[in-house]
Amino acid sequence: MTTVVDGRALANDLLNALPPRIQSLQAQGVVPALRIIQVGDDPASTLYIRNKERRAAKLGIDVAVIQLPATVSQAELLAKIAALNADPAVHAILVQMPLPGHLDDAAVVAAIDPAKDADGFTPTNAGRLWSGDPGPVPATPAGIMAILQRYKVPLRGARAVMVGRSRIVGRPMAAMLLNADATVTVAHSQTKDLASVTRTADIVIIAVGIPHFLTAAMVKPGAVVIDVGIDRLADGKVTGDVDFAAVAPLTSVITPVPRGVGPLTVAELMIQTVALTESQVRHEPS
Ligand code: NDP
Repeated sequence: MTTVVDGRALANDLLNALPPRIQSLQAQGVVPALRIIQVGDDPASTLYIRNKERRAAKLGIDVAVIQLPATVSQAELLAKIAALNADPAVHAILVQMPLPGHLDDAAVVAAIDPAKDADGFTPTNAGRLWSGDPGPVPATPAGIMAILQRYKVPLRGARAVMVGRSRIVGRPMAAMLLNADATVTVAHSQTKDLASVTRTADIVIIAVGIPHFLTAAMVKPGAVVIDVGIDRLADGKVTGDVDFAAVAPLTSVITPVPRGVGPLTVAELMIQTVALTESQVRHEPS
C-alpha cells in the first residue's frame, strides 16, 4: 500500500499553530517582520516571493519586498542588508536566489545577521546545523523533516540517499538526516552508477531539477521517496524529479508534485520568521 503525502494539508496544520504565537508576540508589542530582497525581476522568483508574501500577510506578519534593480552593485546590496541587520523592527531577512551573475552569492548570504537569517543559509547557521546545534535552518529540508515525522517514517538507523548537494536543499537535508541518526549518502552528478546507490535506500530524497529523473529501476520496493523537484515541461506544466506513475506503486510513502514538498517550504519560512522574532524578543535587553 502506497501513501501519497498531502503536503498542503500538513502545511495548513503547521500554519494553524502559528496564530497563538503571533498573538502572544503582539501582546508584547512586537509584530514579526520579514523583509525579502529581490534583485531583478526573474518571473519564477517573483512567483515564489508572491506566495511567501501572501502567506505572511495572511498570518499578520509584517512582510515587505525590497525590489532592487538587476544592475545593483555588490556594495549597494550589502549596504541594504546592513541597514536591515541594524533595524530592530526587522526580525527576519531573506535574499531571493538566484542573484544576477555579477553579484557574489556567498558574500551576500554571509552578510545577513545569523540571528535574522530566515533561510538558514548563512555560514554560521550552516555550521551550526552540521555541528548538530540548534539554529535557523533552510525551509525546504525542514519541511521534508516535518513530512517524515508526520508520516511516521523511521529515521534512526535508516539508509537515506540524498540525490543533489545544493546549499538550499541537498547539503542541509543530509545534515538533518544525520542529526536524526540516519545513515546518509549524498549523491550528485559525479556519482558512479547512481541506480545501485539509490536502490540501497530506505529513503530517497531527490533534488536535481530534471523531470522524471528517478525511475522505478532506481528504487527499492517499500522505499520512501521524497520529490523536491519543481520542473517545468515544454507545455508549461509543472512536474517533479520522480517518474511518479512508475515509481509510486513501489513505494510505501511518496510525495507528489505539486502539493508535496512545495507547500511545506512556504510554511517552514513562516515558522522560522516567528521563531526568529521570539528569540530576538527573549534576548532583548529590558
Ligand atoms: P541545483 O541545480 O542547485 O542542484 C542540483 C543538484 O543535482 C546538484 O547537486 C547536481 O550535482 C545534482 N545533479 C544534477 N544532475 C545530476 C545527475 N545526472 N545525477 C545526479 N545528480 C545530479 O538545484 P536545487 O537543489 O536548487 O533544486 C533542485 C530542484 O528542486 C529544482 O527542480 C528546484 O526547482 C527544486 N526546488 C524545490 C523547492 C521546493 O520548495 N519544493 C525548493 C528548492 C528547490 P552537482 O553538484 O555535481 O552539479
